[in-house]
Amino acid sequence: SNLVAVVGRPNVGKSTLFNRIIGEKKAIIDDISGVTRDRIYGQSTWNGREFSIVDTGGFVRHSDDVFETEIRSQVKIAIEEADVIIFLVDVTTGITDLDSDVADMLRAVDKPVIVVVNKVDNYNRQLEANEFWSLGFERTFFMSSLTGAGSGEVLDEVVELLPEGEVKPDKEIPRLAIVGQPNVGKSSMVNTLLGVDRNIVTDIAGTTRDSIHTYYNKFDKEFYLVDTAGIRKKSKVHEDLEFYSVLRAIRAIDESDVCALMIDATMGIEAQDMKLFRIAQARKKGIFIVVNKWDLVEKETNTARDFEKTIKERLRPFDDVPVLFTSATEKIRVMRVLDTALNVFKNKAQKFKTSELNKVLLPIIERTPPPTYRGNFIKIKYITQLPLSYPAFAFFCNHPREIKQPYRLFLENKLRETFNFTGVPIAVVFKQK
Ligand code: GDP
Repeated sequence: SNLVAVVGRPNVGKSTLFNRIIGEKKAIIDDISGVTRDRIYGQSTWNGREFSIVDTGGFVRHSDDVFETEIRSQVKIAIEEADVIIFLVDVTTGITDLDSDVADMLRAVDKPVIVVVNKVDNYNRQLEANEFWSLGFERTFFMSSLTGAGSGEVLDEVVELLPEGEVKPDKEIPRLAIVGQPNVGKSSMVNTLLGVDRNIVTDIAGTTRDSIHTYYNKFDKEFYLVDTAGIRKKSKVHEDLEFYSVLRAIRAIDESDVCALMIDATMGIEAQDMKLFRIAQARKKGIFIVVNKWDLVEKETNTARDFEKTIKERLRPFDDVPVLFTSATEKIRVMRVLDTALNVFKNKAQKFKTSELNKVLLPIIERTPPPTYRGNFIKIKYITQLPLSYPAFAFFCNHPREIKQPYRLFLENKLRETFNFTGVPIAVVFKQK
């Protein structure tokens, strides 16, 4: 997974640049409530190379006293995490003291840094922009993120500097990520499950020494574990920074097939957990909830059931998700984590024949057809599964645009009642026959 980080002071135009690179439509977290404002993360493809890009500025709180420290820490994290760093500066202000500080930090690293001078909208600005060569970076580019001028050259350079792709893991073997806030017990869980030798990275089956995936063949099960903050302790120093832990979690989600979202039983499900859940859902990853530290909760007859109910209410409309109650330290139900991950992976990998889908779904549609549109009957003729990495079903019909969300949800529910998609986001689309 290639990661490009954009660093720079507020107001130099980071989010405009960011939008330009990922494109408004591709902002994957756009429509997810709570995440929208941050606009921190997106994916893009240029010259056939894929990369993720993160706007580190999304995490800087704009109060003067914390301002400089925050920028420093976002730059540190970018240095640690990114493959390529874009340092964005603003021609209209010239080089500020803070720019010089950031430049000093970036000059010391051995990762590629691209200085991008923004707001170079006209010829006069081009002349002024030459000042930025004095920062001493060999790769200095001029652009206008307003008009887009110069952005192609920047992107050419970015993908040129990306490292070669690592060996791809075997697609038949599930990639599991345990994600969650700091201190919920992720690494304790991994220790309990896999023992302490887990950090010895092997060269088996598609793992490389620096791979984010570690291959395991344990308890008669094969799987990859995706490295997450707090699992390999090496970067624990930063983990309390929201930016760092969210970024790490998002990368882990990206690299996984199935995510175990771990929450702390004594805290319940929090806004931050919901963010991760919605990201995993939007990326169509298998997902389940692990309520850890269950040993610390006083229990009465219905405690677990009520807890599960409360969680599922938060997850709606996608609440067809397993919820486990574990204790990593007391070794309670830890094996269930692995079993559930493998089950969700199986649910996600299911393939159905068109004939099978038609046989089950057409009678249901016959009984409850889509509402008529301006007096026209909408006729669904057949259903096929699309060849995607998650279950997606195309319903071929005469007026695909006239079928609205409630009927889409109705069909999704019928699919879920008929088959087993527990823990799996699915897609229902309507296509022209
Ligand atoms: P991580 O940051 O998510 O990897 O969390 P850690 O595994 O480092 O755990 C944070 C703290 O919670 C440690 O002190 C653990 O001993 C403790 N802890 C983890 N799991 C449990 C659990 O199931 N029950 C109790 N009581 N404590 C736990």
